Amino acid sequence: MSFPFFAGRASGRTASARRNTAVIPVFLPFFGCKHRCIFCAQHAQTGQGDVPLTDILDAADRRLAHRAEAGLPPPELAFYGGTFTAMPLREQTACLEFAARALGQKRIRAFRCSTRPDAVDAAALSRLRDAGCATVELGVQSFSDFALGASERGYDSDVAAAACARVIAAGFALGVQLLPGMPGVSTTVFLEDVRSALRAGADMLRFYPCLVLSGTKLAGLWRAKTFQPWDIDACIVALAEGWLLAGEAGVPVIRMGLAQEPALAGAVLAGPAHPALGARVMGRALLLHVACCAKNQPLAGVDLPRACQGYFWGHKGELRREWAALGVTPETVYFTNEDVFRLHSR
Ligand code: SF4
Repeated sequence: MSFPFFAGRASGRTASARRNTAVIPVFLPFFGCKHRCIFCAQHAQTGQGDVPLTDILDAADRRLAHRAEAGLPPPELAFYGGTFTAMPLREQTACLEFAARALGQKRIRAFRCSTRPDAVDAAALSRLRDAGCATVELGVQSFSDFALGASERGYDSDVAAAACARVIAAGFALGVQLLPGMPGVSTTVFLEDVRSALRAGADMLRFYPCLVLSGTKLAGLWRAKTFQPWDIDACIVALAEGWLLAGEAGVPVIRMGLAQEPALAGAVLAGPAHPALGARVMGRALLLHVACCAKNQPLAGVDLPRACQGYFWGHKGELRREWAALGVTPETVYFTNEDVFRLHSR
């Protein structure tokens, strides 16, 4: 049996990372955002305060120069942390000219940006295409009208689906970001969101479980006890199921959970935050998948790609007992250099 994504990196990085290409993020916290979404705390999430765009691009330029001087291969550049295509034209142009120049100089191999589904009109996509952008990531968060309303996103599922179609029709790779556990998103809704994103043609997904972050409107709702985030165990199971759905469709989940910025730890008030979230989800997904294939009958053993070794038993061995119930123990699991897994029946 083959399940290639089990051989991926446990943290679930970008598609570029899967091809061993570094990604240099250029954070533009709240740039282009018309309002603050109820769950969003970009400064904590990116570890970056209000910095002028020229300084941000100068810093990115220095990073690219250092990499080139060190003889490292050209990375992918990624504009994250705001609503790229809703930034004032002057700021979009500055970023696009910077990226196009870096592409022309072969200091980067590609670039991408993230934006909102209600901010990708034909003109914005045309600007991105002319500059050589390869990937557009949409912060869809959910395709459920109820959840989008409850989370005050300001657009509905039709807008989200149309934005996905527009991005694909314009020739970009499409990334879809989902926010499992945001107001209105149950585990059932989340799994339907994954299916919707796959139907919409996503080339890659990101799962950012909703956290209650200091300074957000959601923090007020949480204090008023009108919002309760997912607990970590339910979150891991839901993400594992979502990850399996994506894997079956051949679509990578390129990130699970927010990056562990030092500023983030101090801002998390509640919610399923864990530094090894990606590895825990992948371990759970592997267990679910093997149990399903084995029809929950005990096995004589299992062969697995060596790449699974780091997360197979789960965080601090949390999955050992469940593996043992399937007949899989340190004596009956074999890690191989192949990218397939085999189950041995009793
Ligand atoms: S979620 Fe996106 S659109 Fe909303 S405030 Fe944050 S960066 Fe801006």
